[in-house]
Amino acid sequence: MQYEAVIGLEVHAQLKTRSKIFCGCPAAFGGEPNEQVCPVCLGMPGVLPVLNKRAVEYGIRCGIALNCTISERTKFDRKNYFYPNLPKGYQISQYDQPICKEGHLTVDGQTVRILRAHLEEDAGKLVHSGADGLHGSDYSLVDFNRSGVPLLEIVSEPDIRTAEQARKYLTELRTILRYLDVCDGDLEKGNFRCDANVSIRPVGEEKLGTKAEIKNMNSFSAVERAIKSEIERQTKLLSKGERVYQESRLWDENTGMTYPMRSKEEAHDYRYFPEPDLVPITIDRAWVEEIARTMPELPAARRTRLMEQAGIAPEIAVVVVEKEELANFFDEVMTLGAPAQAAKAFLEPVLACYNKKAGYNIVDSVVTPQNLKDIITSLESGIINAGTAKILFTELLDTPKMVSSGGDESAGVTEPLDVLHLINSRGLAQMSNENELRALIIGVLNDNPKQVEDFRSGKTKVREFLLGQVMKKTRGKANPRILNKVLDDELSKN
Ligand SMILES: [Zn+2]
Repeated sequence: MQYEAVIGLEVHAQLKTRSKIFCGCPAAFGGEPNEQVCPVCLGMPGVLPVLNKRAVEYGIRCGIALNCTISERTKFDRKNYFYPNLPKGYQISQYDQPICKEGHLTVDGQTVRILRAHLEEDAGKLVHSGADGLHGSDYSLVDFNRSGVPLLEIVSEPDIRTAEQARKYLTELRTILRYLDVCDGDLEKGNFRCDANVSIRPVGEEKLGTKAEIKNMNSFSAVERAIKSEIERQTKLLSKGERVYQESRLWDENTGMTYPMRSKEEAHDYRYFPEPDLVPITIDRAWVEEIARTMPELPAARRTRLMEQAGIAPEIAVVVVEKEELANFFDEVMTLGAPAQAAKAFLEPVLACYNKKAGYNIVDSVVTPQNLKDIITSLESGIINAGTAKILFTELLDTPKMVSSGGDESAGVTEPLDVLHLINSRGLAQMSNENELRALIIGVLNDNPKQVEDFRSGKTKVREFLLGQVMKKTRGKANPRILNKVLDDELSKN
């Protein structure tokens, strides 16, 4: 039998507010364990939460970007469960009146509906003593710095059908949150976390199969591999006539498999009830409109603009827009007046740097948008040729900006470099003097009589060799247009 997968994703995005959602403690990542805590986020008896308005604003911003309806009335609820990282015994979350609902996100031409996005507080972090954090721990430590950091939980409808689609959806969602400047989107630091609900059903069947919830995926590639492995596991079970149990499963990076964690609680197990310490919220429409007016250009619009403006291929536009700093760099080059088509040619060496070096970021290199604009201008006015332009740009891309702390020697550069100065001081300007080039060409032809003979007897391929010899003599700086013209001229003489 043919099966199809049905996948829904739950994303927990930590919102980048300065303070936590219900108290004034810093929400920043890091710090010594249990340093960023107070009686509220430690869940002491008798304390009262106070809602952080910025967290609500960020939630609304995300909701607008995800085409959601922003609720006019919303409230918080208590989700009751016991776990060592939750000292109150309940998490303040949103149950039946989430701040955002019924949105959608289109990725790669496919629309995934968003069921809801709601605000809640993060729990503390358990630090397991076992080597891999999964097996063999003797004890666990609790760090409450994370307790009370605002989260937006974004729940998709089960509209995703493949592991690859899931990865694309997550990548796009993360890019949007980064563009909105509301979440760092770093899976390894845990500020963008994803659980996947995976079930399978016979192709053509409407009814959903029993789902398993997959957790512990720390990268987009892990999400893709975990979902693939889970689909295979469920397919094997059903093919053998066995059944899939509803449960949470942990992805194990080392074995490439998922393992059962605990049976999944049903919603009613949490005994949700309205949070009595927080009043329901009415969201002013004027505020929502004001937030909508200040939204940045979103990734999809930016891709379309780059494709139209600079003729960038769709698959390249995806890569560039995902790296916001890179898209900003090229926008700046075009704002400075460089033609978009010319700028496009310089994407290739940049993307090569990103591919070659893990963690590469163009803003950490010495190159500025003005540098690239100057290189393009020098190329177009014939001061340098295309080969030199590319070498010069690549060199700047590879030169790290010097960090100005401490007196250590560093290979980097602190001052912005001047491209015209570099061209002059290093003699990179192109040779465009026809007489000079003609003299060099005549010299090369005289040194290679056999090749010249071959060319004249019809072996025209040898022209490339002769051209290369002249280029070598000019150290790559010959103006190719003039070089070609004079070479043909000399070769046609008898
Ligand atoms: Zn606190």
